[in-house]
Amino acid sequence: IFISFEGPDGAGKTTALKTLMPLLQAKTNQEIVLSREPGGSPISEKIRKIILDIHDEEMDSRTEALLYAAARRQHLIDVILPTLKENKIMLSDRFVDSSIAYQGGGREIGMAEVAEINDFAIDGHLPDLTIYFDVSPEVGLSRIRKDHEGAMDRLEKEAISFHNRVYDSYMQIVKDNPDRIKAINAEQAPEKVVADALAVIIKQFPN
Ligand code: C5P
Ligand code: MG
Repeated sequence: IFISFEGPDGAGKTTALKTLMPLLQAKTNQEIVLSREPGGSPISEKIRKIILDIHDEEMDSRTEALLYAAARRQHLIDVILPTLKENKIMLSDRFVDSSIAYQGGGREIGMAEVAEINDFAIDGHLPDLTIYFDVSPEVGLSRIRKDHEGAMDRLEKEAISFHNRVYDSYMQIVKDNPDRIKAINAEQAPEKVVADALAVIIKQFPN
């Protein structure tokens, strides 16, 4: 089973996943692999650094989109597919929907265009389930400032208009994929968010 976790910056995916993983392990008695994007494998983590550690130079939006797609491809080959082949549960903190929302909507390349280059990268391997952490840009960004104001990456530092476009794009993606994507309210207390995510997974995969 392949499950991805999506949402805007400050949605609390990473924090929730740390708590969720052992709970899911106990409930299912199956081995679970937790990974993240951009990154998740040695080559993909190098690409992550290229994308996120840029300071003085401007990176072209399409270059950025291609790098995310390239990192995703390598993550799929090195980690996701081998994990699924061994019948383990694969949890990914972000996957293809992030690119469609951030580069497609946020950077205004176009959601269809970014979906197209990612189709090439993922070659049909979509998650069985995607849990969307719904949090408004205002709440998300205020959490980030509280958590690591001085160490925000260049994407987190983007203008509110960028984050609003990311949010609106995510809403569209959720609406367009009702079978695969389930939204949970990520503005609730952390324990409640984890409980809701777990409930969605158990409901979708009762065995
Ligand atoms: O989820 P995480 O905080 O690790 O993501 C790192 C950064 O990359 C975030 O600022 C996120 O907004 C950005 N990102 C992006 N496009 C993607 C995936 C992540 O701009 N496709
Ligand atoms: Mg972040």
